[in-house]
Amino acid sequence: MKFIYHPEIGELELNRKKGRKNISIQYKYAEGKFSISYPYNCPIKVAIQFANSRIDWMRKTKSKSSEKIVARNLGIINRKLALERFKNLAEEICSTTGLNYKEIKIRKMKSIWGSCSIDNKICLNLYLANLPSQLQYYVVLHELCHTVEKNHSKSFWNLVSRYWSNAITLDKELRRYVP
Ligand SMILES: [Zn+2]
Repeated sequence: MKFIYHPEIGELELNRKKGRKNISIQYKYAEGKFSISYPYNCPIKVAIQFANSRIDWMRKTKSKSSEKIVARNLGIINRKLALERFKNLAEEICSTTGLNYKEIKIRKMKSIWGSCSIDNKICLNLYLANLPSQLQYYVVLHELCHTVEKNHSKSFWNLVSRYWSNAITLDKELRRYVP
């Protein structure tokens, strides 16, 4: 890992990665800096050029970052208790909606709150446990609805809203937070 100082953006983290095929930039909210990942055989100059081509987006992201709440900074989480709570939530939702899933796992993730696999295994972000309870409920419901609709199509949102009419508002509320 390498660091450079960008005159406009500040410190940039450069990650040269084996097996990587493209260049991508991510903002690390918890650390307040951008991280660029790029292929092993890609010259550093090209990675920096790429960053320069995204400078407007980087400026905007950085200036908006102060409005975001970083969930991982909100407290220490007991993994076992968190998993138990998520499982209870899922059971509660399943019993009232008839939805079903195969298993629930917990993992530390950088940019998403949850995911649902083709075979209905749900993975939830550990840091979800630091969010207000209605957002935890919403994320679990959201992933459970993916057991029926795998994408974010209109019918997916109809399904979510059928079980919880407030879902769209909560989805917006969730965007105030980053893991
Ligand atoms: Zn989704």
